[in-house]
Amino acid sequence: MNLILIGPPGCGKGTQAERIVDKYNFTYISTGNLIREEIAEGTELGKRVHDTIEQGKLVEDHTIIELVKKTIQGKNAILFDGFPRTLDQAHAIDKLRPVDCVIDIQVSDDEVINRIGRRWMVERNHEQHTFMSEADAKADAVKNGGEAFQREDDKPDVIKQRLKTYHSQTEPIIEYYGKKHKLFIVNGEKSPDNVWKDIQSIIDKKIAKK
Ligand code: AMP
Repeated sequence: MNLILIGPPGCGKGTQAERIVDKYNFTYISTGNLIREEIAEGTELGKRVHDTIEQGKLVEDHTIIELVKKTIQGKNAILFDGFPRTLDQAHAIDKLRPVDCVIDIQVSDDEVINRIGRRWMVERNHEQHTFMSEADAKADAVKNGGEAFQREDDKPDVIKQRLKTYHSQTEPIIEYYGKKHKLFIVNGEKSPDNVWKDIQSIIDKKIAKK
């Protein structure tokens, strides 16, 4: 079974993805993480997409699709986070893997701006951990090591652009999967534990039907 998580920035995809992977053993693929790794490693691709990400725009489809193709080779039962983000990407994934279930975590723009404005990260051993305040992130970095920082693309102007991009380019794929009866909507404004309950019930029903 292959699963896709969709939702605006800050909807909690990353947090829920971690829980899904722990419980159901999916292979986790986040295109945002893949791109950030390319940038950190200073690869040709990383250099090419660096500015696009910092402006809150989408990396062009061809680049992302090639990156995904390379990464999913030999892998099954994949959880995609942040991919597909355009209709062309959705058509591409249809040719690569059967998509069984698309979970859309819905959060209003106001809530996104509120959450992302507070979001800080800690990078430790090449992994990024998310915190909902600068103070929590800094305290964690002091306690467990690593570096606390705010993502460049989480800054207010960029977040507005990312939301615009989400509405214009990513939302059409929600309708696309709705028509294919693969779409499940979750209220992402509930607490993380309650969102998790809703997601488990969707996945459990899907597994029971298989
Ligand atoms: P994320 O961490 O998923 O929010 O992704 C961070 C940034 O990476 C996005 O704002 C885009 O610039 C880029 N990105 C990630 N996934 C994709 C994708 N599927 N298509 C195009 N750009 C992407």
